[in-house]
Amino acid sequence: MTVLVLNCGSSSIKYQLIDPAGPTRLAKGIVERIGEDDGVADHAVALRRIIDELERECGPLAGLGLAAVGHRIVHGGDKFAEPTLVDDDVERVIEDLSPLAPLHNPPGLTALRLARRELPDVPHVAVFDTAFHQTLPPAAYTYALDRDLAARYGVRRYGFHGTSVSYVSRAAARLLDRDPADTNLVVLHLGNGASATAVRGGRSVDTSMGMTPLEGLVMGTRTGDIDPGALLYLHREAGLSVDDLDRLVNRSSGLLGLAGANDLREVHRLAKAGDAAAQLARELYCYRIRHYVGAYLAVLGRTHAIVFTAGVGENDSWVRSHSLGGLRHLGVEVDHVRNSFAGSRAQIISPDEADVTVLVIPTNEELEIARQASDLVTAPSS
Ligand code: ADP
Repeated sequence: MTVLVLNCGSSSIKYQLIDPAGPTRLAKGIVERIGEDDGVADHAVALRRIIDELERECGPLAGLGLAAVGHRIVHGGDKFAEPTLVDDDVERVIEDLSPLAPLHNPPGLTALRLARRELPDVPHVAVFDTAFHQTLPPAAYTYALDRDLAARYGVRRYGFHGTSVSYVSRAAARLLDRDPADTNLVVLHLGNGASATAVRGGRSVDTSMGMTPLEGLVMGTRTGDIDPGALLYLHREAGLSVDDLDRLVNRSSGLLGLAGANDLREVHRLAKAGDAAAQLARELYCYRIRHYVGAYLAVLGRTHAIVFTAGVGENDSWVRSHSLGGLRHLGVEVDHVRNSFAGSRAQIISPDEADVTVLVIPTNEELEIARQASDLVTAPSS
């Protein structure tokens, strides 16, 4: 069985051709700089190029017997709790949700429409970053706002990185040799964007990202948690407009705002060279992770494992040991020899006798999308 996975951003489309049972990856690539002067004209040209490239590598797509095309869609609002077979109505609902994710949903929708036109005989499945978090209880997803206003505008916590958290949660249960339904985890997805999620019995029960992917942990260029009063103050006192504030909190804050570099490897280099701003930036980055780990240990009660994943989580042993240092009284401990492995592979980094196992698990969002899409199209219809 073969699934084509499309992950469309505002100026790029990543694609993979995957056997979800394998996992054999048959082809993989990215078309970048869509809409830029020296790049590809638009998403339609980019998608055509992807199909041509795939056919050059693997032969006619019709001959591959594609089981599905899996589309990553960032925001499913409270409308989509599951991977969903796309028809015109589903497209319309995704379009209606665009104001919730103005940078992310429109390009995904464009690719979805174009791909349905190019490959009309293949089922198209939308897989939403928010879907896994639709199990949050009201106390975790509600903001203490005027409830009518919040309801009218859909203001609530949705959460993101759900596809990744779902993948690593199942992988973690397998590694622990436990039934996922009886496994409680704190999952730390630390990439360019970063989030913490409390998973009870395979379901998300709290997560640090909110209505948008801004809330929670310190990120490469995003603030994470900040008093909304600080933004009102900057608007009034510094004369920053809404667009200025949007750029500030999304693009020029986080590690970049604190240390002048958004990549932790560069922050480490500066910190080691004695740069006090970089030292504070990485300290704060880990402090915020520890803050959420503590919160979620309290939310979950008995916790079987803490899982690190994504670019930073899989590679940065300093962040792993500093964020979880000094938590032995909570049963959390990192073994420094186990933690110091190089590269990106599944690994237990806590001592054998620790109450809470600490794991590193490489995420694979494309494989998870392919699996969810193929499960949906092969499920017996009820
Ligand atoms: P995305 O969130 O875009 O999917 P990734 O999960 O690939 O991104 O994470 C990208 C981030 O991972 C980069 O910004 C980089 O800072 C970080 N990263 C990658 N490798 C390392 C490493 N060896 N040490 C520390 N950070 C790393």
